[in-house]
Amino acid sequence: MRRLPVFFVLDCSESMVGENLKKMEDGLQAIVRTLRADPHALESVYLSVVAFAGIARTVVPLVEVCSFYPPKLPLGGGTNLGAALGALMAEIDKNVLRTTADRKGDWKPIVYLFTDGRPTDDPSAAIDEWNVQYARKATMVAVALGKSADLSVLCRLTEHVLVFEDSGEGDFRKFVNWVTASVVAQSRSVGEGAEAQAIPHLDESILSLVKEAPSTLADEACVTLVGRCQKTRKPYLIKYDRATQEVATRDFKVQVSRFDIAGCYPLDEEYFIWSDARATDIRINTSELVGTPGCPYCGNATAFAVCDCGKLMCINAPGNARCPWCEKTVAFAPGRSGEEGGFDVERGRG
Ligand SMILES: [Zn+2]
Ligand SMILES: [Zn+2]
Repeated sequence: MRRLPVFFVLDCSESMVGENLKKMEDGLQAIVRTLRADPHALESVYLSVVAFAGIARTVVPLVEVCSFYPPKLPLGGGTNLGAALGALMAEIDKNVLRTTADRKGDWKPIVYLFTDGRPTDDPSAAIDEWNVQYARKATMVAVALGKSADLSVLCRLTEHVLVFEDSGEGDFRKFVNWVTASVVAQSRSVGEGAEAQAIPHLDESILSLVKEAPSTLADEACVTLVGRCQKTRKPYLIKYDRATQEVATRDFKVQVSRFDIAGCYPLDEEYFIWSDARATDIRINTSELVGTPGCPYCGNATAFAVCDCGKLMCINAPGNARCPWCEKTVAFAPGRSGEEGGFDVERGRG
């Protein structure tokens, strides 16, 4: 039986924290459950998962559907698409069987690349390598999750670029159903001896095909900041989502953008392994950030206290506190967080 290799290349960068990452994990589980119930898919589909953030790694090497166990996905800082493509190409070289004179190899692999951001590395060399060496031997479907994904970079990779917008109850489930249906359709067509078709019928209520890449990038949808709990020393991630506000006077109307607090989430230390080791140099002025979360570990009133070393920690009240990053004792004066004009903090790479 010839195999139909299916690769999921998943963006696990900071902006996916919380709900989104959980949805992706649940989505994989749902896809596998359906594939196991389909006789064609069960016979031919082999699955692999490559995760990427500041680094890229294979989290599930190519296995048959019945032995596939949905992984817990990591989270890290950065969206190193070049590294992700490198890991994918290495995985294809290692695991996909080529047709030779005395053996029929695997069917043409299908790759689903999901990303919600823009690359933080330079993926040009990897994109060129993909186009020269792999594009004809594999089908890639790139799915932009939301509006801030870099569509122009995805369009350099494949003609199948889709935008998924999760705007209502049940949309993500529909999306998962579409991905599953597309894998099942392709396993059926190879089951009938034909080469797989790239993209089956699109559910246009949630997915749109990008025909031409926009010339400008959409605004970044969120801001993420990493801190540590003063008491437990464990890391957390604060996420702000972009909100646009209309400011109108009698004479004019402008749209002002600001970032509203979305949540503060506990992180594993593994986060630092999956993050780009390059120093973060992206800074944001806190006056654009609205809302201060409490510490998710110890319940301290604010997770947004900035040490002189530039890192964030939690405090409960003004006074002295020991920084879990640099070990110095810092004095927090009342009103320091929330000063007029704000102050700068380090921002995650997304
Ligand atoms: Zn704390
Ligand atoms: Zn410090």
